[in-house]
Amino acid sequence: MAATLMDGKALAARIREDVAREVKAFGRPIGLATVLVGDDPASDVYIRLKHKASLEVGIDARDLRLPATTTQEELLALVAELNADDAVDGILVQLPLPDGLDERRVINAIDPLKDVDGIHPLNAGLLLAGTPGHVPGTPLGVLELLDEYEVQLHGANAVVIGRSDIVGKPVALLLLQRHATVTICHSRTRDLAAETSRADVVVAAVGVAGIVQPGMVKEGAAVIDVGITRTDAGIVGDVAPEVAARAGFLTPVPGGVGPMTIALLLKSTVRAARYRSGSLAHPGV
Ligand code: NAP
Repeated sequence: MAATLMDGKALAARIREDVAREVKAFGRPIGLATVLVGDDPASDVYIRLKHKASLEVGIDARDLRLPATTTQEELLALVAELNADDAVDGILVQLPLPDGLDERRVINAIDPLKDVDGIHPLNAGLLLAGTPGHVPGTPLGVLELLDEYEVQLHGANAVVIGRSDIVGKPVALLLLQRHATVTICHSRTRDLAAETSRADVVVAAVGVAGIVQPGMVKEGAAVIDVGITRTDAGIVGDVAPEVAARAGFLTPVPGGVGPMTIALLLKSTVRAARYRSGSLAHPGV
């Protein structure tokens, strides 16, 4: 039987409608500042999509672009300025930064209340502690999709492929929080297929097209494809299309996790505004 396709586009559209209502009802404008350093074409596409979506829900989005020659001090000065700017609720520094800029120092400089990407060490630590504040959008989107399709997580075997700070690790922690038994795989994992083939839930966040093949997936498993690889034929994911014949649930690429990431960023921006206005307590401040 073919897998049920998990429609991230439709769910993201519903989330965006909810966010638009919340923005309208908030009582003051909600602001998001994005910072793009350099001219990486993929980052440019992501920033454009984020801005379009922000404006559609009524968020005041500020698109800040800096040349690739920007120094560490100039970038830190801009972050400090945005931290101090009352009209800015959320700050998103698009990664990766050009060579020569220290990502960690920049991330550490962002006000944790405004850290809508959930990558400041305070927010990362709060997630680890089981009391999350801001959480990165992609992992939140993955969990929303699993919930939407009522995939059982409690007691399930979940395998996450990838251990980045922005996707793999936070997804694994969110699944753990929901009482899944979680295995994190990465490039040094000895036998990936042995790990994935006993999983009820597989989350692939690698960036290697087709790394998840049908023989690696248990019949009926839920398979979430986070990966993005650009090919001449368009964007493809980490999961081979033939997996649809074995999986119970599968996210399409495009139209699965991608739209969810953007919708959850908008939701996090409203959350940042609530933290800053005091209507919601940030667990770490
Ligand atoms: P990343 O930082 O490059 O991490 C990739 C992870 O995959 C690493 O942990 C790496 O292991 C692991 N890996 C690499 N080769 C492997 C292999 N052969 N077997 C098992 N694991 C392997 O990437 P990321 O930022 O997490 O993003 C992952 C993918 O998701 C990318 O394609 C990215 O474009 C995509 N993405 C999509 C969205 C969306 O909205 N759809 C959002 C964010 C990212 P090591 O740690 O050992 O190197």
